[in-house]
Amino acid sequence: MPTQLKRVHNFYAGPAALPLPALERAQAELLDFAGTGMSVMEISHRAKPFIALQDEAESLVRELLGVPANYKVLFLQGGASLQFAMAPMNLLTPEKRADYVLTDDWSKKALKEAKRFGQTKVVASSEETRFDRIPAEIPVASDAAYLHVTSNNTIVGTQFQRFPSTGAVPLIADMSSDIMGRPLDVSQFGLIYAGAQKNLGPSGVTLVIIREDLIEAGNADLATMLSYKTHAEAGSMYNTPPTFGIYMLRNVLDWIKGEGGLTAMEARNARKASAIYGAIDRHVGFYEGHAQRDSRSVMNVTFRLPEAVEKRFVAEAEAEGFVGLAGHRSVGGCRASIYNAVSEDSVKALAAFMDEFARKNG
Ligand SMILES: *Cc1c(COP(=O)(O)O)cnc(C)c1O
Repeated sequence: MPTQLKRVHNFYAGPAALPLPALERAQAELLDFAGTGMSVMEISHRAKPFIALQDEAESLVRELLGVPANYKVLFLQGGASLQFAMAPMNLLTPEKRADYVLTDDWSKKALKEAKRFGQTKVVASSEETRFDRIPAEIPVASDAAYLHVTSNNTIVGTQFQRFPSTGAVPLIADMSSDIMGRPLDVSQFGLIYAGAQKNLGPSGVTLVIIREDLIEAGNADLATMLSYKTHAEAGSMYNTPPTFGIYMLRNVLDWIKGEGGLTAMEARNARKASAIYGAIDRHVGFYEGHAQRDSRSVMNVTFRLPEAVEKRFVAEAEAEGFVGLAGHRSVGGCRASIYNAVSEDSVKALAAFMDEFARKNG
């Protein structure tokens, strides 16, 4: 490694920070993957060393999340955005109705796709209060084809603290920005999907966890590539999978396991979040958090400053090595994304910078 290596404090929302050991491992293995004399990008996905790698990635997903045996773990492409459409294409029919909880722009986009394939209903929404909370009441209708939620709302910085019990109605969750950030009871869900580029690896691979009976009951008359059944039957190898993305995902999950798994991630993420929210709460009237306290996300912390200094905050922070603090282009303000890979040191340094900036400008 070069001695002058300079890594910034990375708070981008996605693609986002990756664990340094996962990157260093990729660096060390780049020219010779698993003793093959090739990089992982140069080897056939049908070759044994790659199949072993993909099996390892799947095993790590199963182990870390405790995925029950009657669920398939798939590595797909097209991002979470394709899952917005694939979920209703496979699980909704024109005579049925899918229920959606609206908690930020991502869930609205998911709903928009579902409308093409059947009836939909918004059963709960916090749009009236600018998506500053997870709705307190989420009605579950027993005749719904499924209920769709977004577990962590990347743009506005809210997160489900618990999930509704849906009984026989399959619960579908977009977990793009908090999967593997805390332990999860997968058996509560029919389908979980997540683009990798927030908490799992690079963009280009999408993790899908789906209960087998839903695959079986799914619409049969779909384009081959858009059917969960295709990918489940082919072990995510119907066509060429995103091999490098799966490789990096393996490195990231192996790092999570080495750090103590999801309970360790949860504890560290809680400490990190309270450091940044602490800075916000110490300077009430200067920093204004967007999320209501009981809905605060431990992954994306959203806040505003007085308008006169907000741009300067982002610019001065960047000059000090804190990158990616501007809020999503649709809402503005500031956002610190503090996924698993963002170190406690980076977070503490940002909290100290926020204290200092408030002291000077407040
Ligand atoms: C980033 C994000 C998406 C979009 O993911 P793509 O992989 O770019 O399609 C969807 N949902 C949530 C919650 C996200 O954070």
